[in-house]
Amino acid sequence: MSLSSSSLPVATLGTPRIGPRRELKLALESFWAGKTSERDLLQTAAALRTANWARQHALGITVIPSNDFSLYDQVLDTSVMVGAIPAVYGWESGPVPLATYFAMARGAQGDAHDTSCGHAHHGRSVVAQEMTKWFDTNYHYMVPEFSKDQTFALSSRKPIAEFEEAKALGYHTRPVLVGPVTFLKLGKSHDAGFDPLSLLDRLLPVYVELLRELAQRGADWVQIDEPCLVLDLDEATRDALKRAYAGISAAVPELKIMLATYFGEVGDNLDTALALPVAGLHIDLKRGPDQLAPIASRIRPDLVLSLGVVDGRNVWRTDLSGTLDRITPVVKQMGTHRVQIAPSCSLLHVPIDLALETDLDPDVKTWLAFSVQKMAELATLGKALSQGRASVADALSASDSAVISRDTSPKIHNDAVARRMSGLASVRHNRQSPFAQRAEIQRKAFDLPRFPTTTIGSFPQTATVRNARASFTRGDITLDTYEKFLRAETAEAIRWQEEIGLDVLVHGEFERNDMVQYFGEQLTGFAFTKHAWVQSYGSRYVRPPILFGDVSRPTSMTVGWWRYAQSLTAKPMKAMLTGPVTILNWSFVRDDVPRSVACRQIAFAIRDEVIDLEEAGAGMIQIDEAALREGLPLRKSQWKTYLDWAVDSFRISSSGVQDKTQVHTHMCYSEFNDIIDAIGAMDADVISIETSRSKMELLDAFRSYKYPNEIGPGVYDIHSPRVPEIGEMTELLTLARQRLTDDQLWINPDCGLKTRKWEEVKPALVNMVAAAREMRTALASGRRMN
Ligand code: GLN
Ligand code: ZN
Repeated sequence: MSLSSSSLPVATLGTPRIGPRRELKLALESFWAGKTSERDLLQTAAALRTANWARQHALGITVIPSNDFSLYDQVLDTSVMVGAIPAVYGWESGPVPLATYFAMARGAQGDAHDTSCGHAHHGRSVVAQEMTKWFDTNYHYMVPEFSKDQTFALSSRKPIAEFEEAKALGYHTRPVLVGPVTFLKLGKSHDAGFDPLSLLDRLLPVYVELLRELAQRGADWVQIDEPCLVLDLDEATRDALKRAYAGISAAVPELKIMLATYFGEVGDNLDTALALPVAGLHIDLKRGPDQLAPIASRIRPDLVLSLGVVDGRNVWRTDLSGTLDRITPVVKQMGTHRVQIAPSCSLLHVPIDLALETDLDPDVKTWLAFSVQKMAELATLGKALSQGRASVADALSASDSAVISRDTSPKIHNDAVARRMSGLASVRHNRQSPFAQRAEIQRKAFDLPRFPTTTIGSFPQTATVRNARASFTRGDITLDTYEKFLRAETAEAIRWQEEIGLDVLVHGEFERNDMVQYFGEQLTGFAFTKHAWVQSYGSRYVRPPILFGDVSRPTSMTVGWWRYAQSLTAKPMKAMLTGPVTILNWSFVRDDVPRSVACRQIAFAIRDEVIDLEEAGAGMIQIDEAALREGLPLRKSQWKTYLDWAVDSFRISSSGVQDKTQVHTHMCYSEFNDIIDAIGAMDADVISIETSRSKMELLDAFRSYKYPNEIGPGVYDIHSPRVPEIGEMTELLTLARQRLTDDQLWINPDCGLKTRKWEEVKPALVNMVAAAREMRTALASGRRMN
């Protein structure tokens, strides 16, 4: 099942697993809802894997991965595989039940129905594992958790089962594993001062056991991902890498390891990487194009080099001729038998098939390539290198014309935007007065109680809301009917917020399909897709806009909805916007100008909107920068540059207003310690952040920095269906009060509530308001809350 043997191996490193029509999401959600069985779910999963293998084979991929599939997350799979399952999930040994797996992923409600009875944890309420960004992507993994007396045992046969499954279908695959060092490094421990990396010697035997069995069953190559090799590493980690791969190669010498690095250049870890006793090294030549020459000149003669030349992180079509020009000398020098062609990283991070996009601007469409198209590009490159460019002449000339068309298209350049950008220096980038002065003015204007309560913006996007939107999109209902429906939903949400006694209300964001898409659709320079979903976490997928050209705001975007919402209540109605950095970081961004330029263009558009909202009477305007931290470069040396333009962009958007206007911002799961200066420099009057899962630990950064502005540390984890009890929230608030002053503190959930159900949100927010009241009473009576 492979091309002629003289062909260069062509790999994908990993593929999207969600299915072209989001089949996995549907299967998971109906399983979780108890509508389908475990067997149904597993069948859908198997069908997706089969289709994936078949697709790669048909497109000319010769190094096809297995175990790149996951029901939820590959890091969670790894935790389960090695038996790193915290005691709270009630598992002791043996195969890990699916219910345990999903409890780790999503938490479990004690009294919720559980379709898989009989497990130890049944009936117990547990919270999910922590979740965080996978390197600098918008993919989130479940953070492994280790204790100092951690033991490991091979507890899932998934990699073996999937290798066998592919074999039975006629595909000889290269299994993919998260590497042991990256796995430990991504993990955390509650044991003070304990470094998970010290568990390496206990962990390695499990990898060895697994690799031996894979080898016995016929695997010749295994891909082990160690993306930690593109980070700033200390000597201990480098040493761990040496020990890990020395151990593996000594124990399973018959197996060839393709060690995959990606998301950046190997840089100062190159000596370490090149010395590892592995058979192949994969490098990311999109993020680190300059590393090709030094690596090619220094690589051991027995090492295979996998060239990551097709962008696995972005949607642009590859310049095939340019790529060939760049890599041909290296291939000649090393010989075709020592080179493989691959995407820069797994294709997990790009959408599946451009062919499904029938409504895209035809020019824009010719500039793009999704997973399927990228596979074809990879095969073309492989063929050109082994059989000559003439063998793929048509593909190359199509690629050449796309390059020229994109370079020269008037759809990309807008003179008015260029003029505004050149006047950047004359625009005010800071508020009129310092925070202390603004705070006084705002306190008088709003007259809020101590510990004001609010939410982050969205309320449940119920099936009814989504169906109405779908009907409107299909043309089944008129704009009028649709807006009438949205007004009714909004009115009901506002009525309910008043009823339960929240202090600062939101309109609920029912009119928004997505916090970035909603704005992108109203700005120039963005294109939208119908099916181009990528996994954000678990069953949550996003369809990032494609930022292809200069950005401007033809007309106001949110003023009408805000005005309507405020007309229904005397309480303050926060206006809701998405910030420029988040719009940028959650989009596929043009690669023909620096990101900083694209970001500032968006910032001006948001600034205009903020000014319009103030003029319409909005007293509080929230500019979400949910994704600010995730844009941080992986290497510390590049942080300052990024933070400078990111903060500047936020300030461009937020500082066109008067002192009395309270600017809020919101950030999702982030560690703040190392960016607290930048958070301070943003100078938002109020920031709400995710803190509940980390038990307010994240606030330590604000305390030691003496962060002066107001903060709403999230008191309830909105990623889980669990309803928090009042006591849990007062406990968290007590922890917050140890770190913040009382007049800084707001009370809110961790994030927006759009993914939750009203049945979950209602009792949770009722409890949250009750928790706020308890805090106020306790404060009034001088009692300590403990
Ligand atoms: N305002 C948005 C919402 O509530 C913020 C979401 C986010 O930060 N991810 O949904
Ligand atoms: Zn959030």
